Amino acid sequence: MKAIIITIGDEILLGQILDTNSRFIAGHLTLAGIEVTEMRSVADRRDEIYEAVDYAMNEAELVIVTGGLGPTKDDVTKKVLAEYFGSKLTLNPEVMVWLEELLQGRGIALNENNKSQAVLPDNCRVLRNFKGTASGMWFERGWKSLISLPGVPFEMEHLMETYVLPELKRRYPHLQLAYRMLQVYDIPESELAERLSGWEEALPEGLGLAYLPSPGLVKLRITAKGKAVEKLEAYYETLKESLTGLYYTEGEADSVEKQFGECLRKRNLTIATAESCTGGYIAHLITSVAGSSDYFKGSVVAYANEVKNKVLGVDMNDIERYGAVSGEVVKQMAEGVKRVMGTDYAVATSGVAGPAGGTPEKPVGTVWIGVATPCKTFARKFVFSFTRERNIAKTAVKALELIAEAVQEEA
Ligand code: ATP
Ligand code: MG
Repeated sequence: MKAIIITIGDEILLGQILDTNSRFIAGHLTLAGIEVTEMRSVADRRDEIYEAVDYAMNEAELVIVTGGLGPTKDDVTKKVLAEYFGSKLTLNPEVMVWLEELLQGRGIALNENNKSQAVLPDNCRVLRNFKGTASGMWFERGWKSLISLPGVPFEMEHLMETYVLPELKRRYPHLQLAYRMLQVYDIPESELAERLSGWEEALPEGLGLAYLPSPGLVKLRITAKGKAVEKLEAYYETLKESLTGLYYTEGEADSVEKQFGECLRKRNLTIATAESCTGGYIAHLITSVAGSSDYFKGSVVAYANEVKNKVLGVDMNDIERYGAVSGEVVKQMAEGVKRVMGTDYAVATSGVAGPAGGTPEKPVGTVWIGVATPCKTFARKFVFSFTRERNIAKTAVKALELIAEAVQEEA
């Protein structure tokens, strides 16, 4: 079963908005076992839309179109679809009642402009939109379907979830796919595979397990196809039982900052940061994870040398001697913030983020990261040669990795 997604809107082609609708739709169609073979974005123009629709209806069994359903002149999708499917555009009394209800709820009067949202093709199934004025339209031609949805992402998602996905599941139950993920920490893939081999062999048809190793953890994905989807939850539970005694987290693959947090949390350790070139970005990453207060105490954004000296106790002579971007200075920064905040670990950064400020010895992208642990203090130098934003982001991720490595070594 093949599907093509067409997103309509000048804004996408002008680079003003990112086509997130295609990503959402493709992700959900994949889980419904439907293969998305193409995505295409076209302008709000009759000829382009007509041609794209005609092509897609020839190539695929399912076509999903988003955008261009507004009441304004620039939105032409409905007219083009009516032309393509030979429909008559007529006032739909039922939709008129919905519109009145919706607009009344919002305190908006019905005028000619929004009334036009109740004028719809007479040969499609109308999908009632509870979140906006543009109805979805489901056209059928032979065994093929074209579904037109509004461009506004939360309206599109609402119609996908309320009508499109349940109907596709009803029509194609044998294609369905579902999966569950979890992450197991601190165990080599081979050892884990050995432990789970009995469980894996006993899996019924339609269920499968995949190992996705990455540093310090192995991701496990259990996938179910077709009828086996009903059995997924039960087998997921027995998988967790087989992991008893190991440390694991459930859900989608974790971000670096989440993995970092788990690494500290499970050992009851605390951390603080002293940030010069990252300007608090490491602290931001750490605190973007819910529950980070369990292990994160705070940060000093020590941008000026004065702050490095007065707040963190970095020796002014060393700053002059080695420069603010140096191993000596980040070590003292890390030790300083660890002392001030009373944490187990601390990390410090100082670097030339760019675009200006580089020298032959310290070109743009030169970064020193200092780490203070209960056992030692060390510093490492990196040279990233990206834009300012990427240099900062890279430094932050490296800092988290260095701490996590040190924690794992010392634990
Ligand atoms: P409206 O009734 O609001 O005019 P519409 O169905 O005509 O809705 P568009 O005018 O194409 O849809 O888009 C409305 C808004 O939805 C756009 O301004 C944009 O912010 C968002 N949008 C449209 N298409 C996409 C897309 N493919 N991905 C992400 N956002 C989108
Ligand atoms: Mg519009």
